[in-house]
Amino acid sequence: MKIGTPKEVARGEARVAMTPESARALQKLGYECLIESGAGEAAGFSDAEYEEAGVEVVKTAAGLWKAADIVAKVRPPTETEAKRLTKDKILISFFYPAANEELLKLCAEKKSTVIAMDMVPRISRAQKMDALSSMANIAGYRAVIEASANFGRFLNGQVTAAGKVPPAKVLVVGAGVAGLAAIGAAVSLGAQVYAFDVRPEVAEQIKSMGAEFVFLEFDENQDSAATGGYAAPQSEEFRQKQLEKFRELAPEMDIVITTALIPNRPAPKLWTEDMVKAMKRGSVIVDLAAERGGNCDLTVPDERIVTENGVIIIGYTDFPSRMAPLASTMYANNIRHMVSDLTPNKDGVAVVNMEDDVIRSATVTHGGEITWPPPPLKVQ
Ligand code: NAD
Repeated sequence: MKIGTPKEVARGEARVAMTPESARALQKLGYECLIESGAGEAAGFSDAEYEEAGVEVVKTAAGLWKAADIVAKVRPPTETEAKRLTKDKILISFFYPAANEELLKLCAEKKSTVIAMDMVPRISRAQKMDALSSMANIAGYRAVIEASANFGRFLNGQVTAAGKVPPAKVLVVGAGVAGLAAIGAAVSLGAQVYAFDVRPEVAEQIKSMGAEFVFLEFDENQDSAATGGYAAPQSEEFRQKQLEKFRELAPEMDIVITTALIPNRPAPKLWTEDMVKAMKRGSVIVDLAAERGGNCDLTVPDERIVTENGVIIIGYTDFPSRMAPLASTMYANNIRHMVSDLTPNKDGVAVVNMEDDVIRSATVTHGGEITWPPPPLKVQ
């Protein structure tokens, strides 16, 4: 079978779902690889490099979609792209089925199989295909880099002949994959890092990375084992307690990185307008939840704004794409691991085995049916 990767059509998207290196691995699984001309350019991979890796360069998107049996891409398909799917084609990409019902219907009508990389279950066996985590890791790191580039001081403390500089105080709200990556980057740059999460089990992880866990005195401790390791919505009382704590911290913090998310809900509002007003001039907020409405009241998605009191609020939603060479390499690896699981005989023939927990969970349309949401996992 042929696996092809088109050029991403979303504005500003620099990632690509196949790299010359991943193409070599896919060929070892028995596939022929195709790439649309220029698809890797923004991520630093030229047509010539793909050709050297044995990939056929196809001139147009239409030609690519027609020739490929499996299309691997980053962003969910546009309507035009989805209309190019046919009965025997398999699409592998981010899809966000909960937010894309019409698209889901269209793909099912086309009788194509869609494998959503965002639906790969978060279990050990599937870690190698966990593109949500690989991209969140990059986003968390990049958030600190963007914050630092917008902040007028070092992140580390220094005593120099020209004066003494205190370390920057960084607060990370939400210590999931992105939050932990942000903590790691900020600690390694020498900042004094504080972190908060509603899941008390992350406290040890936060401390082991050299940050201080912001402790909230409250009885209602959450048992996230009941929600598959994810956060559940908080009671109003808990939220108020949390806001009280943040209000106390706001005037002291130089950089705030918010990453708090709850599955299938808008991002919780945790950094309110009065907290922004209480912050010092030159402080920076990076809101990694911007795409889902933002954790900060004043975030504008995809914008960098400066408030009247001189606080910089960054709501970019393209952090992984800002590190496109690395993000593409990691995403393409996630994809090739998925393809490897879809190819049990290593013969270049994909088998969508709906008895396999991981494949079943990620498959959102198959055989003319919408197969999302998946049944609960048999093995955790
Ligand atoms: P996420 O992106 O859904 O949320 C980010 C963080 O925000 C979470 O840590 C969450 O607890 C936190 N949060 C939610 N509401 C909050 C609030 N009001 N205040 C402060 N923090 C709040 O999370 P994620 O990074 O996708 O990780 C979610 C879970 O999945 C974690 O338990 C993680 O360990 C687990 N996980 C497992 C695997 C695996 O086993 N393969 C891989 C990745 C993640």
